[in-house]
Amino acid sequence: MDKTTRSLALPAGPRRFGFWLDGKWEGGREIFTRHSPAHDVPVTEIPRCTVEDLNAAVAAARRAFEDRRWSGLSGAERGGVLLRAAEILRARRDEIAYWEVLENGKPISQARAEIEGCIACFETGAGAARLLHGDSFNSLGDKLFGMVLREPVGVVGLITPWNFPFLILCERVPFILASGCTMVVKPSEVTSATTLILAEILAEAGLPAGVYNVVTGSGRVIGQALTEHPDVDMLSFTGSTAVGRSCVHAAADSNFKKLGLELGGKNPIVVFKDADLADAADAAAFGISFNTGQCCVSPSRLIVAREVAEEFETLLAAKMAKIRVGDPLDEATQVGAITTNAQNDTILSYIAKGQAEGARLVTGGDVIDLGAGQYIRPTLFSGVTPEMSIARDEIFGPVLSSFRFDTVEEAIALANDTVYGLAASVWSKDLDTALLATRRIRAGRFWVNTIMAGGPEMPLGGFKQSGWGREAGVYGVEEYTQVKSVHIELGKRNHWIG
Ligand code: NAP
Repeated sequence: MDKTTRSLALPAGPRRFGFWLDGKWEGGREIFTRHSPAHDVPVTEIPRCTVEDLNAAVAAARRAFEDRRWSGLSGAERGGVLLRAAEILRARRDEIAYWEVLENGKPISQARAEIEGCIACFETGAGAARLLHGDSFNSLGDKLFGMVLREPVGVVGLITPWNFPFLILCERVPFILASGCTMVVKPSEVTSATTLILAEILAEAGLPAGVYNVVTGSGRVIGQALTEHPDVDMLSFTGSTAVGRSCVHAAADSNFKKLGLELGGKNPIVVFKDADLADAADAAAFGISFNTGQCCVSPSRLIVAREVAEEFETLLAAKMAKIRVGDPLDEATQVGAITTNAQNDTILSYIAKGQAEGARLVTGGDVIDLGAGQYIRPTLFSGVTPEMSIARDEIFGPVLSSFRFDTVEEAIALANDTVYGLAASVWSKDLDTALLATRRIRAGRFWVNTIMAGGPEMPLGGFKQSGWGREAGVYGVEEYTQVKSVHIELGKRNHWIG
């Protein structure tokens, strides 16, 4: 059922934001007006910063790092700020969720659940700040003692995408702050509001000025300048593999900044014949439709045992047809609007290519007209073969391509037949089969008999062209540190010169 009713009202007019530099709001720049992708009305006004603004933000972050106003605090003090931020987030959850919906188009119930996840990220980061430690070597002989210190990398540039503007931000910021680094954030121009709201929250929680700065504007201008900046020590980039590649070039051509990259995926969901087919069908329908499939870990390739494929696709198509696509401000909506016009065109062009290349459309494939906004019905293609573009390319939309296999080896080979390695989900009640697949499929996030489950304790990141490094949890904090080997000699030196 497609919903057109709305539980929350649209704003009376667009909300105007400044950008956040050295603990203060700045404005007076050219303005970018964001329209809600679900309602086609203006919802936010965001400054288009200049490269000079970016330079000022990097300089502020550098000052805040060098004078140790943040890295010089104890882990307990840093953790205290993160816990206070978690409390303020809890109090402002509904407000943040609302702006997330207006800029991104995701359902309000989903946005609220994401903010709960963000609170958990801050709480986990607070714990990690206290527990971060190095190592010691008592094995170097009686005259030498070794210590390994973990030190913050320095000034971090953080570039985030539009699909989970606040969740992806919060899977990084508390862990960067836990390490003692300072930062400059560049959100996607179309979804900057909640990144700016976080600035206010962190300041209220007691974060010193200059530690968290937000510079808004386009990726082409501000994002590119951040990747090239010679005074940024590390760049954490989440987005497309194409821009990730340009970050690698920019780092090499500037100052060899350290890179963390979380990029694209073409993730398999593998259903063996002994799986609980009803559970697996529900998970596949959820996985490909959640956030309209604009999700880096969406299972976009269904790899299903031939013996059960017909039955499974029938179950799955029935589930997908029941998904409630509609106005994201309606509490009952499960799938909202496509976030950008460009992404809408991309998804529709892949649906057309799938049909032209000979795949069979089982369900979906059409747009839903709600009078405003852009909505696509969750789509399943059957009979997909490995050379088709819907088999190979990341579509980043609610389009699932189904393949069949005869043997476990064939299933594993199909799962690995991609340049990406972000995530995978396998379904089998047989321990040997499930564990074999877990060991052999190359992906950074793995689910057995479940999908897209987890929390900020667990590391996030990809194999192959899905990226470098890990975010979240203790692994995430360690990414933003570098280790220093310290050698301490005890007693009198054995002289080299007689
Ligand atoms: P994108 O075009 O790569 O944009 C991501 C971010 O980079 C945005 O903030 C964008 O700014 C900025 N950007 C664009 N061009 C840039 C440049 N030349 N230099 C520096 N920054 C630049 O990707 P997207 O279309 O927003 O997101 C979709 C892609 O992100 C998908 O491939 C998806 O798999 C991937 N993704 C991965 C993860 C993950 O965790 N692995 C999570 C989410 C998304 P503007 O938007 O302002 O131009």
